Amino acid sequence: MDLKAKFKNDLKISYIENVPMASYTTYKTGGRAEFLLLPETKKQLQALYVFARANNIPCRVLGLGSNILVSDQGVKGITCCLKNIRSITFDDTTVLAAAGLPLDSLIKNAVDKGLEGVEDLSGIPGSIGGAVFMNAGAYKAETFDYITQVEVMDLNGNFKTINKADLKPAYRHVFGLENFIIIAAKFELKKTQNPAALKARRQEILASRQAKQPLDYPSAGSVFKRPKGNFASKLIDECGLKGKEIGGAKVSTKHAGFIINYNNASAKDIKNLMDEAQTCVFKKTGVKLELEQILWGDF
Ligand SMILES: Cc1cc2nc3c(=O)[nH]c(=O)nc-3n(C[C@H](O)[C@H](O)[C@H](O)COP(=O)(O)OP(=O)(O)OC[C@H]3O[C@@H](n4cnc5c(N)ncnc54)[C@H](O)[C@@H]3O)c2cc1C
Repeated sequence: MDLKAKFKNDLKISYIENVPMASYTTYKTGGRAEFLLLPETKKQLQALYVFARANNIPCRVLGLGSNILVSDQGVKGITCCLKNIRSITFDDTTVLAAAGLPLDSLIKNAVDKGLEGVEDLSGIPGSIGGAVFMNAGAYKAETFDYITQVEVMDLNGNFKTINKADLKPAYRHVFGLENFIIIAAKFELKKTQNPAALKARRQEILASRQAKQPLDYPSAGSVFKRPKGNFASKLIDECGLKGKEIGGAKVSTKHAGFIINYNNASAKDIKNLMDEAQTCVFKKTGVKLELEQILWGDF
């Protein structure tokens, strides 16, 4: 089948063939996606999934690529990036945001309108879809603390709305969302009594991230989940791994929980350093660090 003709003429969705995923992930490395599709509407997304399903073509959904490491061999089939589906509407204290909108854009808008709640999540560089799927969190706040409903599409292209009560949000995972594409999420915020303090809190969070995280280098944030009663960065640091390099990948000297693409790292360099950190920490402490980041393709 001529897939390019299908994408262009029938589905009418923009696509890029053989595209380096370095351009679509914050690690800025990794192989190529065979086809990267950029739907602009729910309908296009639906048609794409129905087509992919009917033709047995693997289809992955990509937000802003800030929690993914793509293998150097790349990924086959369709990678469907939702960054062009990015509407946002405010209705008093309720916000409806589409999956591709950057989470931080929702937060900035909310803070500018004097709506509080989500400000502690400022600076997380993912999309609404990625933040909902991962239940992204920071400074004791989590995305699901403010969500009331999620609009999803199943893999056959059927849309439905799921209430928060019917999902089980957990630490960097939401039970019940595994087999859905997130289309949009509804957030319930509160009118602030003190707009200046709300703006100051957002700035404080952004400054704290700047001070603590190696934001001058490509990364995908914390590599590992927080182990019970401890911190991955502390355990990695105690193993003497701060500054450890493999190829162009390095354990950040600023925050040992981050691996940075320091000098044209391959995805394999990063993966090898992840493995090394896991092995060292396990040998020294018996703690098995669990990856928070998601690996795409073969390693
Ligand atoms: C500098 C830096 C700091 C970070 N700080 C934090 C932090 O403080 N807290 C935190 O939790 N995370 C943090 N992260 C990680 C990352 O930003 C979050 O996990 C974010 O929620 C990922 O969103 P994304 O759009 O980039 O998702 P992607 O990386 O594109 O995808 C991540 C996963 O979500 C799935 N996904 C994405 N969109 C959808 C959708 N619409 N429907 C279904 N599945 C979807 C993908 O298939 C993939 O499995 C940080 C990353 C960086 C680079």
